[in-house]
Amino acid sequence: MQKITNDDVDVVIVGLGWAGSIMAIELAQAGLKVRALERGPDRPPEDFAYPKPADQYAYAIRNKVFATPRDAALTVRYNTGETALPTRKWGAFAPGTGVGGSGLHWTGVLIRPTPTDLKLKTYADKAYKRGTLDPDMRVKDFPFTWDEIEPHFDKFDKICGLSGNTGNLNGQIQPGGDPFEGPRSNPYPLPALHDTYNSSLFAATAKSMGYHPFPNPSANVSSAWTNPYGSQLAPCNYCGYCSKYPCLNYSKASPQTAILDVVKRMPNFDYKANAMVIRVDLHADKQTARGVTYIDEQQREVFQPAKIVILSSFQFANVRLMLLSGIGKPYDPITETGTIGRNYAFLSNGAATLFFKDKHFNSFATAGATGEMFNDISPGNFDDGIRLGFLGGAKIHSSQSTGAPIGTALPPGTPSWGQGWKEGMVDWYDRSMKIGITTTCQSYRGHFLDLDPTYKDPWGQPLLRMTFDWRQNELKLQRYLREIVGKIAKEMKPDFMSESFLGLDSHWDITKYVSTHNVGGAIMGDSPRDSALNRYLQSWDVHNVFVPGGNAFPQNFQANPTATIGAITLFAAEAIKNHYLKSPGPLVQA
Ligand SMILES: Cc1cc2nc3c(=O)[nH]c(=O)nc-3n(C[C@H](O)[C@H](O)[C@H](O)COP(=O)(O)OP(=O)(O)OC[C@H]3O[C@@H](n4cnc5c(N)ncnc54)[C@H](O)[C@@H]3O)c2cc1C
Ligand code: SF4
Repeated sequence: MQKITNDDVDVVIVGLGWAGSIMAIELAQAGLKVRALERGPDRPPEDFAYPKPADQYAYAIRNKVFATPRDAALTVRYNTGETALPTRKWGAFAPGTGVGGSGLHWTGVLIRPTPTDLKLKTYADKAYKRGTLDPDMRVKDFPFTWDEIEPHFDKFDKICGLSGNTGNLNGQIQPGGDPFEGPRSNPYPLPALHDTYNSSLFAATAKSMGYHPFPNPSANVSSAWTNPYGSQLAPCNYCGYCSKYPCLNYSKASPQTAILDVVKRMPNFDYKANAMVIRVDLHADKQTARGVTYIDEQQREVFQPAKIVILSSFQFANVRLMLLSGIGKPYDPITETGTIGRNYAFLSNGAATLFFKDKHFNSFATAGATGEMFNDISPGNFDDGIRLGFLGGAKIHSSQSTGAPIGTALPPGTPSWGQGWKEGMVDWYDRSMKIGITTTCQSYRGHFLDLDPTYKDPWGQPLLRMTFDWRQNELKLQRYLREIVGKIAKEMKPDFMSESFLGLDSHWDITKYVSTHNVGGAIMGDSPRDSALNRYLQSWDVHNVFVPGGNAFPQNFQANPTATIGAITLFAAEAIKNHYLKSPGPLVQA
């Protein structure tokens, strides 16, 4: 294979999704020469903006902008006694590929975790009697305080034009918002999106039962917005084609709409699409990186020298690149030594679908992040978890995503094809709504990522191996939430209802979509003994490598992850600009 060496840069960024784009603009604005390498194709907005159609078959069924197993296959098993097998087709999660990453086709629910979520270990140690929880649980606190991270959440809210109702402004609870949210330094930048019929029914019922619903915090903007980088977003037109689609109207915050148009115009930034990074190259002492190696579009091996390496290639790709490059020590679940791969966690969801003979929901007029949710059932806000012996919680929500023609919810028993299906569609299209749950998922000693000993990618490198299954803690939580959803649904008096929740004997299923909220594997922490990164996402082992992404979360909270990915990336970018550039070296002494 032909080998080439590129010109030097200050910073090389691996992966141009949300985390990579934030790093790109922040470090380019500091005057550094920045180059991003993205494994997938370029995806300029004109490729999908109006008048291009939002084609459900191409995007949501044929996964037009998702990574394929060729780019990102991994092997999976439930426990170390099994042989892991490779994924042949995406199911449970849908990572992106190409400029914008998953941030191009995300839904846009931009919610922060609560202060308790960030200090879960402290909370659990205080609230639960010793010995009540699974002895293999390994939850940890995030290594910063609410006050330290809040300004970065605030900045990311503004980058995205967050739309919604403020719940807690500087400690004062505000009407109409989430009373459980941590104190904000500023109100939401924009007002909430309009409610849909289903979510207003859900919110009224939940409120009458004592819960505290509020509009989903949304990065589908409710009004025109100019963000701090100068990017302009247009008001959402409620076309409904958000989740799994790029927005055709410049209304959903994404790397393209919020950041890239600005940074692409800077002379000290450039990027290469179709550049698959295969390793980080280290100096002989393994204390610092000298750059990265990638395979370019012509299948040539290219070395990109750089002073700083940012791994922002999505949670599991970041962990794999660290393992492939010898950054840090791989985790061993038996001895619990090593840090790379530990604390992998996912999340579970579930839903009840309510059918009403006499209602029309206008389900085709919606946005990805419209809807209402409540946070009463999250750690620290309710006591039943302590009584029932599980740690965790969920946001319970009703959004609207049933209007797209393929996959409309039909009553149980309706044939999935032919005359019976047609009759079902005629009778029931637009007459159902969902109440869903998005749950926490704790980390465990036996849930981890490592390199597969058998299966390799097209470049001969081992695939990532995922060892994961549901634990009783998460399944008991699901059983509890199913009851709550059932009670709300009953109050709403549907004609009938179908449910999809996990049972106590359920196993994780790689073939069914859950979410792309994968976390852990290269977590942030206070000590190199049990974390891969310090509070600034800097590798404890190789100080010029920073690793922003969901990989840094020690466990999963009930909030969607991207607000936190944005905040910790901005926190790390600030530390690089203000401290690392002046004095390159570890930013936290171990
Ligand atoms: C359908 C869907 C809906 C979602 N909805 C929400 C939501 O409502 N709210 C929320 O908070 N989150 C949501 N998410 C999750 C959200 O998209 C991710 O949390 C976020 O995009 C992660 O950002 P990232 O920068 O870490 O990774 P990404 O955005 O995935 O970017 C990583 C980039 O790295 C590239 N890359 C990978 N490996 C390499 C390599 N070896 N060399 C070069 N480049 C590489 C990838 O191609 C990709 O472009 C959703 C995700 C999906 C798929
Ligand atoms: S619903 Fe709004 S944000 Fe979503 S794709 Fe349509 S216009 Fe864009």
